[in-house]
Amino acid sequence: MDYAYDDQNIFAKILRGEIPNTTVLETSHSLAFRDLYPQAPVHVLVIPKGAYVSYDHFAAEAGDAEIVDYTRAIAEVCRMEGVTLSAGEGFRMISNAGDHGVQEVPHLHVHILGGRPLGRMLAKGG
Ligand code: AMP
Repeated sequence: MDYAYDDQNIFAKILRGEIPNTTVLETSHSLAFRDLYPQAPVHVLVIPKGAYVSYDHFAAEAGDAEIVDYTRAIAEVCRMEGVTLSAGEGFRMISNAGDHGVQEVPHLHVHILGGRPLGRMLAKGG
């Protein structure tokens, strides 16, 4: 499967230090930072440092160490932001992909949203 990666996307620029971000967590293979236009009290984006377009790209082609690091980074962000089920009231994790998923930035990211009740997952017809 061919996943074309555009290294001029905004998250690639963040990873190269070309534009600023508000970092929440950095690990060997992952970076978490605050969404520039938060849609909830907690809105953090978690990205792998590797050049992956989407979650399926990452899941199919990333190495084991990257996958473990990324998964644990997501857990750590949830803990740090106080939205885990053990210490908080939950969250929603979203990863948009491609045109139908309405993905704006073509570098894999999961949105961690929380801090308030988020409503149903999809708006009718949305
Ligand atoms: P998506 O539609 O899933 O690709 O979402 C992209 C997200 O990136 C949106 O929620 C934007 O608000 C966010 N975003 C765009 N540029 C930046 C930036 N420079 N720093 C942080 N978040 C950004």
